[in-house]
Amino acid sequence: MSCLICAGQAESVECASGWEERRCSVCGWYRMSQSLILAMMEEGQIFDTERMRAWLVCRRQLMPIPTIDASQAILAP
Ligand SMILES: [Zn+2]
Repeated sequence: MSCLICAGQAESVECASGWEERRCSVCGWYRMSQSLILAMMEEGQIFDTERMRAWLVCRRQLMPIPTIDASQAILAP
């Protein structure tokens, strides 16, 4: 499995339907909505990896496994 944020090596974790969960050695553990992944693929968009990682670090103070949906996605310009 590859990381949905940086495309590096990541472990896929079983989770609720509608979501994808990954544990990336660099980005860490997160959950992402499948609709966001599909929308980004359709539009050919990619994440702003550095800013997304920083967001995850902040977010982990509130929840151990941050969830990312369309409203939280930080896309590359
Ligand atoms: Zn990653």
